[in-house]
Amino acid sequence: MNIASDPKLVPQTGPLSAEANQAAALAAFGGVLTVDLDALVANWRKLEKTAVPAECSAVIKANAYGCGADPVARALSKAGCKTFFVATIEEARVVRAAVAEPTIYVLGGYFQNTGDHYAAINCRPVIGDLNELAEWDVFCRRTGWSGGVAIHVDTGMNRLGLTLQEAQAIIPRINAGDHGITLVMSHLVSAEQLNSPVNARQLAAFRGIASEFTGVPASLANSSGIFLGAPFQFDLVRPGAALYGVNPTPEADNPMQPVVDVKARIVQTRNVERGETVGYGGTWTARRPTRLAIIAAGYADGYFRAASANDGTRGAEVMVAGKRCPVAGRVSMDLIAIDVTDLAPNAARRGHMVTLLGDGITVDELAHHFGTIGYEVLTSLGHRYARLYKGGNAELPVEKLATEQPAAR
Ligand SMILES: *Cc1c(COP(=O)(O)O)cnc(C)c1O
Repeated sequence: MNIASDPKLVPQTGPLSAEANQAAALAAFGGVLTVDLDALVANWRKLEKTAVPAECSAVIKANAYGCGADPVARALSKAGCKTFFVATIEEARVVRAAVAEPTIYVLGGYFQNTGDHYAAINCRPVIGDLNELAEWDVFCRRTGWSGGVAIHVDTGMNRLGLTLQEAQAIIPRINAGDHGITLVMSHLVSAEQLNSPVNARQLAAFRGIASEFTGVPASLANSSGIFLGAPFQFDLVRPGAALYGVNPTPEADNPMQPVVDVKARIVQTRNVERGETVGYGGTWTARRPTRLAIIAAGYADGYFRAASANDGTRGAEVMVAGKRCPVAGRVSMDLIAIDVTDLAPNAARRGHMVTLLGDGITVDELAHHFGTIGYEVLTSLGHRYARLYKGGNAELPVEKLATEQPAAR
């Protein structure tokens, strides 16, 4: 939910200061998710610079990896991004409503009778199968639509894409001209592993087939692929995760800036005696007189239960009053207990916000505790936080909500 656009969240009583209004509006939520559009744009520019002279597109599927397809598309388009990739036509609709000019490719491909949808919002399917291509051709002949398609060639993923032989079979069409193919692409299996022999095999296979698609731009690299070097960059690169702060080079320092920050409120603090247990299952036992802060976020907010702490196993950490404090016991649906015993007295108080993601806690660190990858941390962030956008061309910062309040009443 976007707090800034919901009039129900504007308090209805008495004139309040802007700060008080903001606090009152945010109090309806357990936490606040902030997307830094300036950091997002800086990441895109860095990738663009790394890949130049290749064009740098942006993969904004899955609601821009949880960050919000509309504001992300607007900010990147304003920064100069001219090509976007999404997974479904429905996602393409959201992006087209946000940005009029850029090219939009739909990775999920062409499915029976979806031609009208593609034409209606002027976006292009990424076709990965000869049946799809035949159906697309029928649609184009019937309607006169000439909006273009990408051809996806499989070079080892064995997920989507024409086989090399199938791709070979459509070369005569390329040579005949007026073929409607605007991009030839493939996808890397293990780009984040610098030394994986699969990278070189896929590069060789793709280079061979792409060179036969005369005059058609070629694309191979995702975020990590960009960092495999110039030979992988071809005419267009397709970063997703790195835009949102995930480390594309896991074997080295993260060259990207963090984009997402998540804070949640302390709803209660309490003291427990040595020997008492905390949370469901009583799996965590206080080894000393312990002070706990109970936080208004849980696994329903995308803070995975795998980050729980039990006797003998440490869980994730949370920034409270500028210090890292460990999770105590199981993460539950809406709540997490944090051990704040080592903080100064009163440093953690009811109403204070603590940081679950940000202030040095990275997406990749959380992914480690969650037993997954940064991609899944981002796409799992959930819908219960207030969402704020800062920088870029954020259209309704929360301050605006406060200043608009008198007019609303
Ligand atoms: C998701 C996706 C990307 C982006 O990958 P990242 O690893 O997030 O950069 C690029 N190409 C295709 C085909 C994809 O499905």
